[in-house]
Amino acid sequence: MSKTMLAAVLHGIKDLRVDELPVPGLEPGKVLVRVRRGGICGSDVHYFEEGRFGSFAVTAPFVLGHEVTGEVVALADGVSQPALGERVVVNPSRQCGQCDYCRSGRGNLCRNVRMLGSASTKPPTHGGFSEYLLVGADQCFPVPPQIDDGVGAMIEPFAVALHALKRAGSVVGKPVIVTGGGPIGLLTVIVARACGATTIAVSDPVAERRQMALQVGADSAFDPTEASFKEQVTALTGDGFEVLFEASGAAPALRQAFEVVRRGGTLVQIGVYSAPEVSVPVNQLLVRELQVIGSFRYGPVWEEAIRLVASGRVNLQPLISRVLPLNQAPAALALACAKAGVVKVQLDLL
Ligand SMILES: [Zn+2]
Ligand SMILES: [Zn+2]
Repeated sequence: MSKTMLAAVLHGIKDLRVDELPVPGLEPGKVLVRVRRGGICGSDVHYFEEGRFGSFAVTAPFVLGHEVTGEVVALADGVSQPALGERVVVNPSRQCGQCDYCRSGRGNLCRNVRMLGSASTKPPTHGGFSEYLLVGADQCFPVPPQIDDGVGAMIEPFAVALHALKRAGSVVGKPVIVTGGGPIGLLTVIVARACGATTIAVSDPVAERRQMALQVGADSAFDPTEASFKEQVTALTGDGFEVLFEASGAAPALRQAFEVVRRGGTLVQIGVYSAPEVSVPVNQLLVRELQVIGSFRYGPVWEEAIRLVASGRVNLQPLISRVLPLNQAPAALALACAKAGVVKVQLDLL
């Protein structure tokens, strides 16, 4: 095996370079994965465009990417799972397993979490847009042959949507709206459909995204900038939606959410805001007994996510718009930034 590898390294705003880096050496409890496919996430786009993602600012160059399918090519001594040669998807979030949150089953809130391709730690943690990736054996989940590399790299964002759905409680028999028709919003539509929501609506100002939402299973799609938005929602649902997933991270969407959720309804926040504060009609919380719930990354939903996809109950393939080779990573990021005509852009690392 070569001692060096190529990786897409972010050096600054809109400065992504394909650099040669050393292949990481094995460490106890870890496995070396030959990355095959990597999906570009909204967070990668924010790091690339703005040098930050929410409150996480880039302080040093790092490898982007955390939505990864690969093949296990080396195991540390004593590791037997996953097996050598197995194709896996990688949970990019490494939890300590020791802190009070980890021990109480809320590992996504871990005090010592490390996320691949993230500036949430200082220095930032290198991500998966590299030919080789060193990860904990317990971060790898084998995928069956019916999940190809592209769909495998969609499991991570799908796990975000599945976790958000669980945070909402049951959606069975309920009218649901998803605000924001980007990849996470569309995946939330797909999982809400699979899990028994009745009416599913999407709001997004971009016509193309509304069209895509209808294609992946939404019943209706609204333009939230239209003056008649509220009337259209009322015409569809009567009193409003029982569950709203805010997947846009846009301040107007959050304000509007309070108008379209029915009394006693639930608002689940998934989208990340660039603005540190958003004003909302706060008295609505009490007079209409609204529940506002945050949803961060994912709990232990990976195996379930893989089973749902492998069973054919959900189809993630239509969301993959473009696949570019690693040496075109800067162009791929630019394409993902433009958002026009694309949902998910992936990098082929083979
Ligand atoms: Zn992601
Ligand atoms: Zn922990």
